[in-house]
Amino acid sequence: MVIVGAGHGGSTLAALLRQAGFDGPVVMIGSEPHLPYHRPPLSKKFGDPGFQQPIRPPDFYADNDIEVRTGASVTALDRSSQTVRLSTGERLGYAHLVLATGSSPRRLAVRGSDAAGVLTLRTIEDAAALGRSLEARGTLAIIGGGYVGMEVAAVARSHDVPVTVVERENRILARVASPDLSQRLTDYHRARGTDIRVDATVTEVRQQGGWATAVDLADGSTIAADTVLVGIGAIPDDALAHQAGLACDGGVLVDWCGRTSDPSVFAIGDVARRPINDTGDLVRLESIPNVTDQAKQVVAALTGRPQPEPEVPWFWSDQFDIKLKIAGLVRPGARIVPRPGKKPGSFALYHLGADETVHAVEAANAPSDFIAGKKFIAQRTPVSPGALGDPSVSLHEVTAATPVGS
Ligand SMILES: Cc1cc2nc3c(=O)[nH]c(=O)nc-3n(C[C@H](O)[C@H](O)[C@H](O)COP(=O)(O)OP(=O)(O)OC[C@H]3O[C@@H](n4cnc5c(N)ncnc54)[C@H](O)[C@@H]3O)c2cc1C
Repeated sequence: MVIVGAGHGGSTLAALLRQAGFDGPVVMIGSEPHLPYHRPPLSKKFGDPGFQQPIRPPDFYADNDIEVRTGASVTALDRSSQTVRLSTGERLGYAHLVLATGSSPRRLAVRGSDAAGVLTLRTIEDAAALGRSLEARGTLAIIGGGYVGMEVAAVARSHDVPVTVVERENRILARVASPDLSQRLTDYHRARGTDIRVDATVTEVRQQGGWATAVDLADGSTIAADTVLVGIGAIPDDALAHQAGLACDGGVLVDWCGRTSDPSVFAIGDVARRPINDTGDLVRLESIPNVTDQAKQVVAALTGRPQPEPEVPWFWSDQFDIKLKIAGLVRPGARIVPRPGKKPGSFALYHLGADETVHAVEAANAPSDFIAGKKFIAQRTPVSPGALGDPSVSLHEVTAATPVGS
């Protein structure tokens, strides 16, 4: 078993394989110089010493007979001979190969974006660079109001760093959150001093002596910034799959058990586009629960076990003291039913389809709503919107008795 990529997916897969009793050789190759580590703290804790968190203790891999090659990349995949070539010049044969290569930050394509001080955030080194910029107490411009950008904004404001978020769409989190959640978070960030500019496009990063000094916007305004964080999404690292002729379309295409168009090659995590829930729609999700779910699917396929029940996709984000948990897929046009939470400021936004089943829930400091919402989504149980929006009605009492389709 050769696993390409020693990130969240690679390490979870290797561990689950051993747990399932797989006793063949397992080799995991990772281009970073580190053993697998958690990425979520990079945007939530980059100012703290504790942002570097290994996924498993260093001894875990040797103890479980998992060979990890860090600092080495797979540079080519030859499916006819079932071998991969490494950056070290070595060749490795495989019976099964798993691509867990993740994704890379999309670059900003404007003049000056190569200046020093223009950063992206994906690795320990990136987070360390961002942390140094906090220490320097300069000004921070964040290009892109996605989850990573807004988490970084919250940390930076908590350190009193002046922050401007520049978002091209007419609201932050436009692709991934309901308009209602975007508005509530915008208000929360603005109340804590973040300057949020929407409908704003960057035209140039100004520099002096090679260092970023400001960002120019299409409306003619200029934002002073010593550090510019570019958080405009990620692109799947599917070059190996492309080059090897595997079916790709916005990521490596896989089936319900993570298999690519070649039965001996699998792909999981950020790099894969997979079918999801009963619609069978192909989606590429970037989240820890997603890659964990897929690792379980691949292990089941390889060890001949029954496929695990598909999980409802979910995600979390921490911004200031808000712990957000989102389950399901946020789609435009859903009817949003807000439900006030138990604690001051907490709330949940339930997304309902025309049949009054729950498609998604966005829960802010509202863990019981998250759990209930996830269950409603999985069971496709119709709810009473009036009862759902009324916090005096218990979550046990908001559903109609019979699930849709039964
Ligand atoms: C800043 C940040 C914050 C996040 N916060 C959250 C969060 O709060 N909640 C959540 O659910 N998700 C979060 N995510 C997303 C989550 O971390 C990813 O979805 C997850 O890490 C994906 O796992 P993966 O194995 O697909 O990719 P990765 O964990 O990125 O691992 C891929 C690895 O493969 C290596 N690689 C690539 N090509 C090769 C090659 N050719 N040869 C060898 N190695 C290669 C890469 O260097 C990388 O180390 C966050 C991501 C980032 C960047």
